[in-house]
Amino acid sequence: MRLSRYFLPVLKETPAEAQIVSHRYMLRAGMIKQASAGIYSWLPLGFKVLRKIENIVHEEQQRAGHIPMLMPTLQSADLWRESGRYDAYGPEMLRIRDRHDRDMLYGPTNEELITDIFRSYVRSYKDLPLTLYHIQWKFRDEIRPRFGVMRGREFYMKDGYNFDLTKEDALHAYNRHLVSYLRTYERMGLQAIPMRADSGPIGGDNTHEFLVLAETGESEVFYDSQITDLKFGDRQIDYDSVDQCQAVLEEFTSRYARTDETHDEAVWAEVPEDRRRVARGIEVGQIFYFGTKYSDAMGATVQNAEGEQVPVHMGSHGIGVSRLLGAIIEASHDDKGIIWPEGVTPFHVGIVNLKQGDEEADAACQALYDSFTTLGLEPLYDDRNERAGGKFATMDLIGLPWRITVGPRGLKNGVVELTSRRTGESEEMPPEEAVKKVA
Ligand code: ATP
Ligand code: MG
Ligand code: MG
Ligand code: MG
Repeated sequence: MRLSRYFLPVLKETPAEAQIVSHRYMLRAGMIKQASAGIYSWLPLGFKVLRKIENIVHEEQQRAGHIPMLMPTLQSADLWRESGRYDAYGPEMLRIRDRHDRDMLYGPTNEELITDIFRSYVRSYKDLPLTLYHIQWKFRDEIRPRFGVMRGREFYMKDGYNFDLTKEDALHAYNRHLVSYLRTYERMGLQAIPMRADSGPIGGDNTHEFLVLAETGESEVFYDSQITDLKFGDRQIDYDSVDQCQAVLEEFTSRYARTDETHDEAVWAEVPEDRRRVARGIEVGQIFYFGTKYSDAMGATVQNAEGEQVPVHMGSHGIGVSRLLGAIIEASHDDKGIIWPEGVTPFHVGIVNLKQGDEEADAACQALYDSFTTLGLEPLYDDRNERAGGKFATMDLIGLPWRITVGPRGLKNGVVELTSRRTGESEEMPPEEAVKKVA
């Protein structure tokens, strides 16, 4: 992409309404624009990162054997009356009436809708296990929408639902989700710690939240410092293996890690004092096992091997896709701007032409651009007629992992300058070498 043809409305001023760094940088970098309280338009740069995050979520879900689909944003109130949640959900639910006076709602989550789909088609235990998921906009009329996309009213969420014959099978689905979530967050450059949590309006006893440590997080968290040494890394997991998934769950949940909702002073006292950490965290996902809560209420049964009708065991599993942009920026930035992890960066490399219009510089930039494109990488080429300082400031703000600076003086010696956004280190080298280093 050439910056002269892109739409990147960078702001010079720091917007007064933004209280935390991720919100400030997302506004300043022209990633989002508020449409109304807690509702945002995703401008091209923000949309690009949103898609990257979404793609990682899709890949990891499908790697775990979960099946993608898409349910609507608007739902009929009738299904929610069946589960009893139409009244129970409270003012966070946006209720809508259509022209025929039918009660509708903008879905805050999808347990009812998916259970209805399941019961319409699935009759036999032979069709289990089954895990369906979608990534779709949700609406929750949050009392205090704030921090930009971190606590929106409209937000983008991956929600998945497992259907199993027995509790044991459903707990395997739970563990499988835990494993796939660990991989998902690590691919985004994040450490998200599974913490024992409270189930809230979804219901059920087994639940973990995934928290990214950050001062601006809304949850208070208590954990054993040993847990931050754990890495999932690139280990290969057979998602069908009950033992392998169970082992990962045990490894990642055996140390104390809880949110304020489930914090227990007595158990906490058993953690060696020098390992106790109290901090703040951002909830980027949550997994639940809730048994037959919805299948009982809505009659989602299958025939088991003995020919009896039994309710299916279910769980639901969410990832805050749009919130993740904020969480990643909170975890990875400096005073100049965002520092994107490689896995989610909107462009792989920025090319800065110090002397636009200079024949040699223009040609060298174009050659770099073509090399990256051929390699399947996306460069962002700042080809505007601007001062170098302004170009550098924009590149630092939008946080691409690499910047290549091209100017007539360097080219005389056959070199360009390659700068790492994360370390700030610059090195001069021939253009072909810079391409190799980035790729
Ligand atoms: P919170 O405690 O932050 O209100 P939640 O526990 O109500 O979140 P869940 O029902 O667990 O949310 O939804 C799954 C995920 O969706 C959350 O882990 C979070 O990452 C994301 N999410 C929830 N509410 C919002 C919101 N208002 N804006 C952005 N993302 C959200
Ligand atoms: Mg909530
Ligand atoms: Mg929560
Ligand atoms: Mg939650």
